[in-house]
Parts: sequence; structure tokens; C-alpha cells
Amino acid sequence: MGTVVTETRPSIETARRALVARLAAAGIEEAALDARMLIGAALGLDLTGLVAQANRQVTADEAERLERIVQRRLAGEPVARILGIREFWGLPFHLSQATLVPRPDTETVVERALEIYRERPASMPPPRIVDIGVGSGAILLALLHEIPGAFGVGTDLNLDALRTAKRNAAALGLSDRAAFVACSYVDALAGSFDLIVSNPPYIRSADIATLSREVREHDPHLALDGGRDGFDAYRALIPQAAARLVPGGALIVEAGQDQAGEIETLMRAAALWIERPPKADLAGIPRAVS
Ligand code: GLN
Repeated sequence: MGTVVTETRPSIETARRALVARLAAAGIEEAALDARMLIGAALGLDLTGLVAQANRQVTADEAERLERIVQRRLAGEPVARILGIREFWGLPFHLSQATLVPRPDTETVVERALEIYRERPASMPPPRIVDIGVGSGAILLALLHEIPGAFGVGTDLNLDALRTAKRNAAALGLSDRAAFVACSYVDALAGSFDLIVSNPPYIRSADIATLSREVREHDPHLALDGGRDGFDAYRALIPQAAARLVPGGALIVEAGQDQAGEIETLMRAAALWIERPPKADLAGIPRAVS
């Protein structure tokens, strides 16, 4: 007599718990969040879907797909790279190998730029914005999303980054207010601008080796490496940007830890008036210098 063997597969919820434990055991800090994102990606479900279907069984196909991406995570690939997308300012940004994964700290630059914009008389025309080293477009597109009628230019040395930013502009419905230019800093731009923002590379070259594996192996070094003392990009960018500001315009740059003071010195040398204190990120680190 034959026996029918029904292989029992775990429910989504059981699989999720097992994965949290597995990721945590591998030393992954955000195990719970990562597990949810990876299961969502493998099963094609958002948070609501995961909750609604928590008790159904994971199919064999899904389990196989999940295992493949879990292996990538265990090998040190960040979740945002596996998904190819990351949320910033509540908006989805596609990523490529040429773009940094946008960091929550960088939202401090957006916040500061918006504060400065909102201090202007309401009668002024919408601002013209430049984002130097635009990457995925996170800062520029968040600003265009927030400021009605604003027009922005993103510059980058990397064509693949510019393509990614352009794709993000289209996905966010901002294509008609955003232009992307391949150049170094602002050297191909004509005219002057109301707001210039940048998250330039600022890690000391020698410190790249000490970054976490997720950053070191998966973020583009062009976007990280700030030269010997970490200030190469600021030294080039600040005078060039200062020369492109309208009177009363503002330059807002992201600073690495302990860099704000030196950035202020460079800004003062470019005859800019310094807004004190720099705006701190959620960890209390002075992050946006303007
Ligand atoms: N904040 C990034 C990091 O965590 C560095 C980004 C940059 O150099 N602009 O490494």
C-alpha cells in the first residue's frame, strides 16, 4: 500500500522567524528588518501582503528564491543592493553599482535646504537647484518633490549614475523639472543657482579599508573616497559652487564625522557666510553645513 507523503512546508511567519534567527546568528544587526525585506522580495509581497498571508505555506519555488537571496545577504551584500531599490525621504530610489545607497543621515541635507527655501519670501520665483555628484538623485529629487515648480540640475562624473538618476526622476514624475549633466562639479553649467547641494566623497582614502564590508565592497569608491585627508572634493567644490550662487543663495553640503569645522573654514575662504550651528543628524553628528 502506498503512503502519500505530504511534505510540510513552513508558513510565511515560521519562515520569517527562522530567517531572523539565522541572520542574527550571522551577526547581521538589523536581522528582523532584513528578514522582512528579503522575504517580501522573494515572495513579491509588501508588508501588508506578508501580514495578510502570514499563515499560508511558502511554496517550493519561493523557498528556493528566498534561499538564493539569503545567501547573497549572508555573503555581505546589503538588502538595498539585493532589491536594487532604497527608500529615501519616503520615496523609492532605484540604485545601480555607480550610486551610493542613500543614507538616512543625508536627509539632514534635504531638511536644511527646505528650511532655507522656506525662509525666502513667498513671492520669490521657485528656486533653481544644483546637486553636485547626484548619484541616484536622492537629494535633488526629494527637493524637487517638496518644492513646487523648482527646477534642478544633477551633475555626476559617472554616466551610469546619471542614467539611474534620470530613471528615478521619470519614476517620480519629475522629468520635466530635472536635467542631468555629465561634468566635474559644476564646470559645464552656465548661469547661477539659488540652492546648491552636495553629498561629496569625504572618506579619507586610508579609511576606506576600515569601512563595513557592506559599504566597502558594494558602494562605489568614487562616491566615498575624499582623498588623503578626505577634503579633496570640498576644496574643489566649495569655491566653484560659491561662484555659481545668486546673491542670497545657499550651498548645503553633507559633512563626515568631525569635518564640519574645516568645511566652514573652506566656505569662509570662498567668501560665504556660515550658518551656525551646522544641522545635526539623528545621531547628533553635525551633518549639513550651509
Ligand atoms: N556616509 C557615507 C558612509 O557611511 C559616506 C558618503 C560620502 O563619502 N559622501 O560611508
